[in-house]
Amino acid sequence: MPTMPASLHVSPHPLVAHKLAILRDKRTEPKQFRELVRELTWLLGYEAMADLALQPQRIETPLEPMEAQRLEPRVGLIPILRAGLGMVDAMLELLPTAEVWHIGLYRDERTLKPVEYYNKLPDAATVQVCLILDPMLATGGSSAATVDILKQWGAARVKQLSLIAAPEGVRTLSSAHPDVDIHVGALDSHLNERGYIVPGLGDAGDRQFGTFAGPASEPGHGPDDATAEVVRRLQRDLRDG
Ligand code: URA
Repeated sequence: MPTMPASLHVSPHPLVAHKLAILRDKRTEPKQFRELVRELTWLLGYEAMADLALQPQRIETPLEPMEAQRLEPRVGLIPILRAGLGMVDAMLELLPTAEVWHIGLYRDERTLKPVEYYNKLPDAATVQVCLILDPMLATGGSSAATVDILKQWGAARVKQLSLIAAPEGVRTLSSAHPDVDIHVGALDSHLNERGYIVPGLGDAGDRQFGTFAGPASEPGHGPDDATAEVVRRLQRDLRDG
């Protein structure tokens, strides 16, 4: 395994490992898959928020006044469509006042490059901390492009939350944005020639939403030359540091 950056945080929690094992299992049906995505998002989101700043606030308990602590920054959640949508509700349960901003980037199936098709961010940033939600950090292209947009918007701090990452994706994101903390449940072996994380869990969108009929989801679907070339380049970059 190539050396990974200090910005990568792989959860050491046994509950995360246990839930990931059930999530990855090909026999796990969409209903349970969605429940596990939610539970894993709670656990990883809790860890990812561990360094948020607090500000003192005077409150009164039934017994006496005290100086309590409230979260200082406003937090924005940015799900990478479509698989990231399944992580939003869980994060909103942890942070009910978070804002949810949608940036539509799709992954060109041939080149694996992100293409922006929806962006309704207001002119100035309304949050200080942005949390990008994507179950699978695969090539890292969509995340790096999303961070570019969020930094341009004025977000002071950006973090990435993923259930599973590939080393290739960690490298892409951390090379482009070394200041972005990457919180994941597991770091897997590599990307295959179709850009899927191995051993991974397959297509996180299809498995959440039960959409197994598309050609890209067929297990026998052969590699496309352009896709395979992108993956080879990412793997070369990773090897050569
Ligand atoms: N997206 C997925 O859903 N799965 C992968 O393995 C890679 C990208």
